Amino acid sequence: MKALVLNAPNDFGVKEVPDPQPGPLEVLCRVERIGICGTDVHMVQGHYDHWPAYYPFIPGHEWSGQVIELGSGADEFGWAVGDRVAGSSHAGCMHCPKCIEGRYNLCLNYGHSQVHSHYGHTVQGAYADYVVHSIRSVFKLPDAMSYDLGAVTDPASIGLHCAHRGGVETGQTVAVVGAGPVGILAADAAKALGASSVIVAGRGARLAVVDHFGFEAFDTSSPDGLDRFRELAPHGADVVLDAAGTPETIALSLSMLGRGGRCAAVGIPIEDVSISLAPLVLDELELVGSRAVAGEMQATLDFIADGRIRAGEIITHRYPLDDFGKALEVTDRRIDGAMKVLIDNSLD
Ligand SMILES: [Zn+2]
Ligand SMILES: [Zn+2]
Repeated sequence: MKALVLNAPNDFGVKEVPDPQPGPLEVLCRVERIGICGTDVHMVQGHYDHWPAYYPFIPGHEWSGQVIELGSGADEFGWAVGDRVAGSSHAGCMHCPKCIEGRYNLCLNYGHSQVHSHYGHTVQGAYADYVVHSIRSVFKLPDAMSYDLGAVTDPASIGLHCAHRGGVETGQTVAVVGAGPVGILAADAAKALGASSVIVAGRGARLAVVDHFGFEAFDTSSPDGLDRFRELAPHGADVVLDAAGTPETIALSLSMLGRGGRCAAVGIPIEDVSISLAPLVLDELELVGSRAVAGEMQATLDFIADGRIRAGEIITHRYPLDDFGKALEVTDRRIDGAMKVLIDNSLD
C-alpha cells in the first residue's frame, strides 16, 4: 500500500509499504479521509521526545474509512466487512485500574504494544491506504454521515472531552482560548452541554472564524482584548477551555476565571509554564488537564449528526496523500485561512 513514512524529524515521503494485517479483535480498514492534527505537525517537526515511538513511522489519527477485513473474533462483537467507521487514537488495555474506571486515555499500560495502542503515535497510523485498528477504537458512522464528518469526529470528541473535564454545566459562562479547530469544536461542545454564553479568544484571521460560528469573540493580540472579555463576563468565566497550550494562554486562561472557576487545558505545551499560584489558592481556582478522549466518540457522532457540533464547517482544504508536504505546510502556516486540512484518498 501507499503510506506517508516519517524517517526522522522533517524527513518524510509517500512510498510503498507492506499492507497491515488485522490481529484478533482488530479490523483492517480502507482509509478514506485523514485530518491533519496540530499534534501531527509537532510530531513531524520532532518536537516530542516520545512521539513517534520509533522510526520509520506512519502517523495520522483523525480518520474515517471502511472495514474491508475482520480479524478473528471481531464478528462476535457485531463488526462486518463494509462497516463505515471513524477512528479514535487510544485503545486502552481494558484491564488496568484506569481502563476499568473508564479512563482508558490514562491506561497504565500505555505504549506496551501487546495490550495497548495509541494509533499514529506509538503504533502505525492512518496516513496510508489501509490501517488496522482495534475494535475498541473504531466507531460506526450513521448511514447518512459523510467520510468528511467521520474524519473530524476525533478532534470533535477531544473538544467534548475537554468540555467534560472543565465540568461545563447548564447556564454557565464558558470561555475558550484558541480559535483553531479544537477550540471551535470545544466551544460547540460547551454549548451542547448547556453553556448559556460561550466566548472565544483568538487573534488574526481566526477571529472571523469565531464570528462565522456565532460566538462572542475577543482579540488576544489587542491591548484592550481583556477589557472586552470583562464586558462580556463581568464576574469572569465559570469554565475556561484552553485549546492553545502556550505559556501565554495558560496564564491568560487562569486570569479569565471567575472565583471558584475551572480551567481545562487541552493544548499540549511543548515548553513549561509558570503560573501565579496566589489567585489559584485565594479564588479556589482549578486547573485540570484534558487528554484526548475517554468515551466521548459515540456522543460526538450524535452531536455531529444533529448539528450541535458543526464539525464539517471547520474543513477548509483537502489534498491527496501525495501532496502531504503541501497539506502540512498549509496547516502549519494557516495559509488561506486553513483550519482543518484533510488528506482525501479519493483524490489522485
Ligand atoms: Zn488529533
Ligand atoms: Zn489500561
